[in-house]
Amino acid sequence: MEKYVYSFNQGNKDMRELLGGKGANLCEMSNLGLPVPQGFIVTTEACNKYYDNDEELNEEIINQINEKLNELEKITGKQFGSKENPLLVSVRSGSRASMPGMMDTILNLGLNDEIVESFMPNNKRFVYDSYRRFIMMFSDVVKGYDKSKFDKVLDEIKKEKNKKSDIELDESDMKEIVNKFKTIYLDIAKEEFPQDPKIQLIEAVKAVFRSWNNERANVYRMMNNIPYSWGTAVNVQEMVYGNLNEKSGSGVAFSRNPVNGTDELYGEYLINAQGEDVVAGIRTPKSIETLKDDMPNIYEEFKNYSKVLEKHYKDMQDMEFTIEDGKLYILQTRNGKRTAKSAVKIAVDMVDEKLITKKEALLMVDPNTLEQLLHDTLNEEDLKNNKPIAQGLAASPGAGVGKVYFDSKSLSESKEKDKILVRSETSPEDISGMKISNGILTVRGGATSHAAVVARQMGVCCISGAQDIVIDEEKKQMKIKDVIINEGDYISLDGSTGNIYLGQLTTDSFKLEGDFKTFMSWTDEYSKLIVRANADTKKDAILAKELGAHGIGLVRTEHMFFDEERIFNFRKMILSDSKEEREENLKKILPYQMQDFEDLFTVMNNEKVVIRYLDPPLHEFLPKEKEEIEKLAKDLNITYDELYQRIDKLKEFNPMMGHRGVRLDITYPEIATMQTKAVIKAAINVKKKNINPHVDIMIPLTIDEKEYKYVKDIIIKEINKIFEEEKEKVEYKIGTMIEAPRAVIISDVLAKEADFFSYGTNDLTQLTFGFSRDDSPKFLNDYYDKKIFETDPFKTIDEKGVLRLVRISKEKAKLVNPNIELGVCGEHAGDKDSIYNFNKIGLDYVSCSPYRIPAARLSSAQATIKVKK
Ligand code: PEP
Ligand code: MG
Repeated sequence: MEKYVYSFNQGNKDMRELLGGKGANLCEMSNLGLPVPQGFIVTTEACNKYYDNDEELNEEIINQINEKLNELEKITGKQFGSKENPLLVSVRSGSRASMPGMMDTILNLGLNDEIVESFMPNNKRFVYDSYRRFIMMFSDVVKGYDKSKFDKVLDEIKKEKNKKSDIELDESDMKEIVNKFKTIYLDIAKEEFPQDPKIQLIEAVKAVFRSWNNERANVYRMMNNIPYSWGTAVNVQEMVYGNLNEKSGSGVAFSRNPVNGTDELYGEYLINAQGEDVVAGIRTPKSIETLKDDMPNIYEEFKNYSKVLEKHYKDMQDMEFTIEDGKLYILQTRNGKRTAKSAVKIAVDMVDEKLITKKEALLMVDPNTLEQLLHDTLNEEDLKNNKPIAQGLAASPGAGVGKVYFDSKSLSESKEKDKILVRSETSPEDISGMKISNGILTVRGGATSHAAVVARQMGVCCISGAQDIVIDEEKKQMKIKDVIINEGDYISLDGSTGNIYLGQLTTDSFKLEGDFKTFMSWTDEYSKLIVRANADTKKDAILAKELGAHGIGLVRTEHMFFDEERIFNFRKMILSDSKEEREENLKKILPYQMQDFEDLFTVMNNEKVVIRYLDPPLHEFLPKEKEEIEKLAKDLNITYDELYQRIDKLKEFNPMMGHRGVRLDITYPEIATMQTKAVIKAAINVKKKNINPHVDIMIPLTIDEKEYKYVKDIIIKEINKIFEEEKEKVEYKIGTMIEAPRAVIISDVLAKEADFFSYGTNDLTQLTFGFSRDDSPKFLNDYYDKKIFETDPFKTIDEKGVLRLVRISKEKAKLVNPNIELGVCGEHAGDKDSIYNFNKIGLDYVSCSPYRIPAARLSSAQATIKVKK
């Protein structure tokens, strides 16, 4: 017989998979002898059984719950359903990973009309207060009735009695509220409020299981890669009453400051209140510091427990407590959520305090939060006080506050300091605007769309794919549901959550501090996977180096033309009609490229710089605006119509699978020749200045060995020519990107000719799934809703398919070329879970945008430490 229900003495902290985090910790605290109200836990397996069984609890589970209830009655000396000495319980969720506020809680369960008449004759206010709370929570959580109907009653009575807070309401007010609540229940349910405590309990357990699948839990799970299959446990615990009298209360506190990491108690409490009041914001809680004056003994006792728990768990704790008539109880403890700043400080301090080792410190910080340290963020208080008006994909973190512009030109011309660029989608014309804006918002496009990739690299906040926005370019306005926002109106973007706010929220900036540097220096002691940067400009390269990148793993050379003057010449090259014309235009591009490469080699002295040859999906580079076309036609000395026709001829139905990557060099070998000239001359130039360039030339989107060899031969021929002319040589390597399934399959053939492979997992994901990088967010949401996918395959590497391809490619390549260097330069290279997997399959490096480097370095260290563990 399977065991579905555990008492607190049957579990411990290591059983979180089965008992959930909250349950496992309640057992642990109880074992440690802390004052924990007793209870039992219905397991996560019972939750999965509940879902397998068409959302019903089977008899076995119900029997086991009843058995544990009997045991709890014995332990507490109270009876469930008793009139004089009733056992009341709380029913709370608790999954394996903590998901604060995502699921539901019910308090004071076990009350009914009869019990409230006889229970605690000397404190009827408390009894009715508890009953009204229970009716409201049960109606909300179990029945899903509109909570605002109940809130309204409470507000009306307060108004009628001229009372500001619930606490001022007396026994008869509470009784009146109970009656009104019961009437609301009857009106909606068409039956009386359930009077049998056992039925109440079973319904509540089911409701908590149901809340595992509510919308906010689903969103939170998706954001944090928490599998749906984990399920939640349910904690049933004897109630202790914070609302009993003035010697009672409830609170929440952290053992250290979760905002800045200072070693101090940080929290709030309320006298004569139940736990929910503290978080619900109906009354303003007092700071935990004042408990020192209100109840000095309780304060000391709590502070002592907080240190006991911190030492025991070797981490900062987030605790809930209740004081019942002068006696302290601990209701919950868990590792506290904290800002990145706080996380890093706590980790470094705890190593100093010899509480944890460096390895443990490295595992304590979530790599995904580190990016917060490098960007401005929206002010916490402002976030609390403002509701988002829409949401898109959190494409590039940071805060963006400014006035809205709907095209790059108006934005560039405006003298305003703080500007936000809003576009349906971005194109290269927008780069000038993107560079000087505080944030970018697009209606279309996924997290690997042009706007997102470029924004991340620039470190500009970006929200993409905000599909609720309708832009009217002519009127220079956008509509989000009923809200109209005109050019020049303020909006605020939270690039870390994808939330969009109306108006001008405040931003907080963060300076790199000593602790962060110390912490990051530890990562290199344990990492195996090298971390490089995707960087195309000197500025990016300097930043990447500062943040600890070992060289550059991807220079997207087409991105070097995102400048107004450069894009103009670049377009002339793309639109050239003959070899001669193209060569002429390539000559104009050459000096830019040479200078850029010299800069990159210089910044990355002694470190690798992997230069990828041109790979422009044409839709991102062809001019779209009439003015642009006119200007270009004039310069090319042809008519508007003629140029229009050339553009039209180049237009593709599916540019992502079009004339890009190595295919361009096959058609126009002169492009590869020009780029080789720029790379090698730049390397020779810097060598003369005593710089040691590590030159890696990378051919993109290869699918065939003859195709690769054709271009490689052109490159080598040009290199030898330059060596000859310059009477100087530099070392170099030539390799390719693996971005198409065919390239994976023929890796053993390609590897014979390549010094290195870099897995372009953006395209490899796109081509393996057949999902467009730009369009897939539109339909992928349906896959998440229907639980077909739990993560975005463009964000976290798909283990079943794409990762397997990478492993197959690696194995094939190593067979023929054991020294081949293997890395990843797609967006997955900056993602924690993907990095664990790249480390596991034994790749050599990852390369990601500069702002993701600290996260990648930490993930790489964690991956090695975890494997060793
Ligand atoms: C990739 O496809 O993963 C890659 C790095 O190339 P790009 O994103 O430029 O297509
Ligand atoms: Mg690619």
